[in-house]
Amino acid sequence: MPAVGAKRVGVIGGGIVGVCAASWLQREGHSVFLIERDEPGRGASFGNAGCLNGSSVTPVSMPGVAWNVPRWLFDPLAPLALRWSYLPALAPWLLHFVRAGTPGKARAAARALRPLVGPTLDALNPLVAAAGAEHLVHRLGHLYVYRSEEGLQKERFAWDLRRENGVEVDQFDADELRQLEPALSRDYVRGVLVRENGHTSNPLRLVQLLVEAFIRSGGELTRTRARGFRLEGRRLAAIETVDGDLSADAAVICAGAYSKPLAAALGDKVPLESERGYHLMIRDPEATPRIPTADADGKFVATPMETGLRFAGTVELAGLAAPPDWRRARVLLEQGRKMLPGLAASHPEERISMWMGHRPSLPDSLPVLGFSGASPDVVYAFGHGHVGMTAAPMTGKIVADLVAGRPPSIDIAPFSAARFR
Ligand SMILES: Cc1cc2nc3c(=O)[nH]c(=O)nc-3n(C[C@H](O)[C@H](O)[C@H](O)COP(=O)(O)OP(=O)(O)OC[C@H]3O[C@@H](n4cnc5c(N)ncnc54)[C@H](O)[C@@H]3O)c2cc1C
Repeated sequence: MPAVGAKRVGVIGGGIVGVCAASWLQREGHSVFLIERDEPGRGASFGNAGCLNGSSVTPVSMPGVAWNVPRWLFDPLAPLALRWSYLPALAPWLLHFVRAGTPGKARAAARALRPLVGPTLDALNPLVAAAGAEHLVHRLGHLYVYRSEEGLQKERFAWDLRRENGVEVDQFDADELRQLEPALSRDYVRGVLVRENGHTSNPLRLVQLLVEAFIRSGGELTRTRARGFRLEGRRLAAIETVDGDLSADAAVICAGAYSKPLAAALGDKVPLESERGYHLMIRDPEATPRIPTADADGKFVATPMETGLRFAGTVELAGLAAPPDWRRARVLLEQGRKMLPGLAASHPEERISMWMGHRPSLPDSLPVLGFSGASPDVVYAFGHGHVGMTAAPMTGKIVADLVAGRPPSIDIAPFSAARFR
């Protein structure tokens, strides 16, 4: 028998955000179907660095960011790069992005993000336990390493933001760093460890196990592409798909970087863009860090995964359609070898794999989370940018609050779709 107030809810998008939302909704007694056009977990949730960093409150647009834009345009292999051909399409996003980079706005973004990302492991663990995925989630901390004291000082504002939001850190000098992570290059002289952070050693498998548990508990996986909504007045009647209408009392848009046209179908114009990122993996690496380790200068993370060592990161603003520039992934390998001198100087190609994915990003690094303008029956939950793995579990809980008509447990006003009007 369905629970009192139970609804038929369609969740669009089978990435980490969609499956967390579907699972939390299901736990409240709703009848939930997950709409995925491809295979669950093959979008951005496939190839990320796997970090579940509750400390990730710093937006990408930080004070002084505008001065960097020309450099990004001229160096296609820089940690952050922008394709000339994409500049006209990117202009509105870029304008909002530069405007977001004031100390006050960065501070407000960090304050808004902390309640969404901070409780990540607590909100994920019940789902992980039900899915038998405990072996994929670890709480070992996250290490940031620097080649100079100046490098660390350059990031002082970012560390202030984290501290102001209750993140505790331990600092290490060169000797201590060597003891903590013997595989690291001796070029690193400063390290900052955030103990509260966790990681998953296989993001794809994590999504798959969560989806399997959702199906075992009565959820449906519907393989089709959603393309819009049929409303009767302000009430949702059905989700329109390329294979016909699916009737639903409520819908949740979790289609990652592909959510923009779905929100537009409801009259909400949001400047969602892809911040493309890359990874390069080495199977059976000769050297590996024990825990996810971020090279602060290179803007990449080395994560020990079940399937090998993954170097992931960098940002490329070139849209959803342009082909990958695999040189960017190769740069990660060069940098990774410098980070971990025990790695071989060359690897056979069959031990190397590369990937490019689309971070769903709003220019202020905050997601869109809340009701659509057109109907209280359609909830937005997309645009988590660099922190989607981390923010997904709490996002799922908030989606469940909204669908139930309860006030959400955290302030979601900063995540409104209307903030860009
Ligand atoms: C290199 C890199 C490293 C990263 N590292 C981290 C990290 O360490 N920690 C962290 O927290 N985050 C990280 N991220 C960000 C994180 O991966 C993303 O924010 C997150 O995966 C987004 O999840 P999602 O569910 O919103 O989107 P996705 O995983 O992209 O899922 C969206 C799904 O929707 C489906 N879909 C789209 N349109 C439709 C439609 N119309 N109908 C049906 N289905 C549709 C797609 O097929 C896809 O499966 C990283 C990202 C990159 C690229």
